[in-house]
Amino acid sequence: MTKKRILVTGAGGFIGHHLVRRLKEDGYWVRGADIKWPEFERTVADEFQLLDLRIWDNCLQATRDIDQVYNLAADMGGIGYITAYLADIARNNILINAHMLEAARQQGVRRFLFSSSACVYAQYRQQQPGVTPLQEEDAYPADPEPGYGWEKLFTEQLCQYYAKDYNFETRLVRFHNVYGPLGTWEGGREKAPAAISRKVALAANGDEIDIWGDGAQTRSFMYIDDCVEGLIRLMHSPYRQPLNLGTDRLVTIDQLVDMICAIAGKRLRKRHDLAQPQGVRGRNSDNRKLREVLHWEPTIALEYGLEITYKWIWEQLRHAGRLPADMRQAASAGFFIS
Ligand code: NAD
Repeated sequence: MTKKRILVTGAGGFIGHHLVRRLKEDGYWVRGADIKWPEFERTVADEFQLLDLRIWDNCLQATRDIDQVYNLAADMGGIGYITAYLADIARNNILINAHMLEAARQQGVRRFLFSSSACVYAQYRQQQPGVTPLQEEDAYPADPEPGYGWEKLFTEQLCQYYAKDYNFETRLVRFHNVYGPLGTWEGGREKAPAAISRKVALAANGDEIDIWGDGAQTRSFMYIDDCVEGLIRLMHSPYRQPLNLGTDRLVTIDQLVDMICAIAGKRLRKRHDLAQPQGVRGRNSDNRKLREVLHWEPTIALEYGLEITYKWIWEQLRHAGRLPADMRQAASAGFFIS
């Protein structure tokens, strides 16, 4: 039997890079495609194509002789980034997704998984920190995150039109806040767990750090290994409707900060910056459909995943020589290196 040939777009990015590694471990032939190389570690893909997937011909090239596509490429970032660049994000992503979907169909790809987001959920359902967990149907009547969320919601529809009109096998996953090592941790695109880890790592005990919003906004967070497991399970399932992929453990941003401080062994004061964007007030995943469809749900504890993530970001700072001298000693004492 010949090996299945899999394309991961966005393979230079956080989730895509981890997914490539897992698919290789599982024995598949894997092509990665991205506009950039992975930033932190060499790819283990059998082939890596450096392509701008907004461009039609590049999508045709990427999908040639491929059985399954995990379409993860997107112009995206944390709340600061996605609220600042509505036109660019929406235009770039609609070009990538529309071209990738049609190219995959024309090239005879068997299955196409689109990475959507909890940002598709209606904002009017997310106005309280103690939000009711979001079920898949709560995306309608539509009121998604401007720009990024509208594009994701439309591409979900586009995938479903392809399923209906062409009997094209599409899978739709709605991620809720994925975090872990090898993800962007500075520069403006980083998300809350990485940004807070960086701030905590750079602070001396007793310092004050900036927290966006009043800290009472809530989210759920999923560790990258659970994310990759869920993606592969969904690809193999027959389920064609949108599906949440996240944890349903709701924490406030202040609680997230406290957890990371505990991992770092630091006591820090929080300075809440109300002028910065904080997104919806509360967001959680309702995992009933996920359990029903995949017979599984994410299980990795937030404390465990944050510890790995924090240590990795701490190491990045240490390598860059950016930690104050007294903090660097923690490494030579074997404090963080197990
Ligand atoms: P990421 O930014 O690390 O990866 C996205 C990759 O897409 C990047 O490497 C980027 O270079 C690539 N890309 C952007 N424009 C491109 C283009 N024109 N051509 C080719 N490649 C291009 O983000 P991620 O966290 O790995 O996210 C992967 C997918 O999951 C995205 O579709 C994102 O919207 C979705 N998602 C992620 C989260 C999360 O918490 N990380 C949450 C919801 C949805």
